[in-house]
Amino acid sequence: TIGMLAIDQNGDISGACTTSGLAYKMGGRVGDSPIIGSGLFVDNEIGACVATGLGEEVVKTVGSFLVVELMRQGKSPQNACEEAISRIVNKPNSNYKDFQVGYIAVNKKGDIGSYSIHQWFSVTKFQYGVNEQIQSDYFNKA
Ligand code: ASP
Repeated sequence: TIGMLAIDQNGDISGACTTSGLAYKMGGRVGDSPIIGSGLFVDNEIGACVATGLGEEVVKTVGSFLVVELMRQGKSPQNACEEAISRIVNKPNSNYKDFQVGYIAVNKKGDIGSYSIHQWFSVTKFQYGVNEQIQSDYFNKA
């Protein structure tokens, strides 16, 4: 998935995501990316989130909506992404070592956050024409 979140100079937020789809997927499978609230959620009053990784795991927690709701409750985008990842990895019998999920988020102030289960997740911030590679933190450091 390529996920994009944008905030303009008026503070208006937008987002989009593609999907690579899932290799060897079942015919008829619908991933998280086309489901609003799972792969992508934008609330212009609060912030936005987009997901990548194993869509089935994102759908089970309605992940992008969850991140935005956590921001609504006062969490920073970073803490909200971390909490949403912890919901996945702390499920009983979670086999998170075998799959990846990553989130990026932005809030109304323009603060950003990103977090994933594993390291293989690339985040770039574009601001005023300058792009900066973000060293995104991740859960599975063992
Ligand atoms: N989230 C996508 C899916 O499960 C896969 C991806 O990240 O490209 O369909």
